[in-house]
Amino acid sequence: MRYFLIFLVFLLPYSCAINPVTGKRDFVLMSEQEEMEMGKEADPDIIAEFGLYEDAKLQAFIDQKGREMGRISHRPNLTYTFRILDSPVVNAFALPGGYVYFTRGILAHFNNEAELAGVLGHEIGHITARHSVRQYSSQLAVQLGLAIGGAVSPKFEQFSDIASMSLGLLFLKNSREHESQSDELGVEYSTKIGYDAREMANFFNTIHRLSESSEGGQLPNFLSTHPNPLNRFERVNTLANQWQKNQQVSDLKINRDEYLSMIENMVYGEDPRQGFVEGNVYYHPNLKFQFSFPAGWELQNLASQVNIQDKKGDALVLLSLSEQKTIKQARDHFVKEFSLNVLDEKNERINGLQATSLLTLYQEESENLALSVFATFLEYDGNIYRFISLSEEKNFQRFKPSFDQVIRNFKQLTDPQKLNVKPKRIRIRTTLNTTSLNSLLEQWNIDKKLWEEIAILNGIKQEDQVSSGSRIKIFGE
Ligand SMILES: [Zn+2]
Repeated sequence: MRYFLIFLVFLLPYSCAINPVTGKRDFVLMSEQEEMEMGKEADPDIIAEFGLYEDAKLQAFIDQKGREMGRISHRPNLTYTFRILDSPVVNAFALPGGYVYFTRGILAHFNNEAELAGVLGHEIGHITARHSVRQYSSQLAVQLGLAIGGAVSPKFEQFSDIASMSLGLLFLKNSREHESQSDELGVEYSTKIGYDAREMANFFNTIHRLSESSEGGQLPNFLSTHPNPLNRFERVNTLANQWQKNQQVSDLKINRDEYLSMIENMVYGEDPRQGFVEGNVYYHPNLKFQFSFPAGWELQNLASQVNIQDKKGDALVLLSLSEQKTIKQARDHFVKEFSLNVLDEKNERINGLQATSLLTLYQEESENLALSVFATFLEYDGNIYRFISLSEEKNFQRFKPSFDQVIRNFKQLTDPQKLNVKPKRIRIRTTLNTTSLNSLLEQWNIDKKLWEEIAILNGIKQEDQVSSGSRIKIFGE
């Protein structure tokens, strides 16, 4: 494999590589080697932001179908990596070099294996046709927007465990042309591994309905970066029919029941066990702690880090777990890592917990930047918690009371109601008679407010007839 890559790098001057899908010369700034490194570098940041959703059965299924598809694709020699992200957002995306991501949110919304296969083919298509690479090349000079999850003000960025550069990659818009090409490849690849690609078209209806029903910020990324789903529904349907005719394939699979069995009991919606906010208090049931934060500040709950910042982005508290085993080790490591100038330091107890706080100065002369960095290391339940409070030196006194509010309210979570909170999960119910979905939901005593959400989740309309013996997705504790 390594020799093959070296060979490729020498063979193709990277300013005009041959595109694997079109066979034409392509202007890209990146070699295949660089492309793979880019995916490999961004992957840990994506995991740090969203976390992985662990489900051995579902993971094995996606790995198997993904590998099968990789082999029949335009880049059969690439090593593909497939991940399930622990996010309720409905999204799927790909990174250069062979990385494909599905959120558990999108997996909950597929209604059969064929829909999953279609979207898998679409994402693999972005990789085989080197879309992100081309897009990245042409946008290299463009400043990446900072209105993304996990993004902090650029002046504080070096202290964040998550690089917004990597995250920015997810938000690069694929052009209409690229989306159309990926839809085509999705039809081709999923048909070739034996699935009915017309189901992929149906999934665009789900996307369309989600976008119509969502409020404000809940718009699925998968949609916002893609062209009109209804046009795509028509086009993908036509392409699927053509492929099925030309290839003269029959017995194409849909596998609805098999798919529903796989996602039964999967977490649905936000998982409060990994941290949630009520009022101005943040609770983390799994790690059994809580703290409060100043009114008007914004909190972002990421898998490996919590960002708490004032609206203008002038002050930021980053909370994460230190990799070091003791307060002293964590403190020394931190001071050394950022070459900090320690101005003041004290050991104390915060709500009964051993802690060390230090006020330091971080300077970057080249950028004329002087930051006050107030770091607190606190030992709780076998972990070292690291608070990094940041502001420009000149603003520090103004923000110090807010920093203190967060740190001094950190304590053990004991409220059983909060400790025992449970996420909702996908449940599958089998119908006993033939009737409309809404009368079924009424029979099952499901809150009317949830009917439309459940209809979308099942890819049908509320008034559609559901025949006896069908399996329907609902969600509950
Ligand atoms: Zn796409």
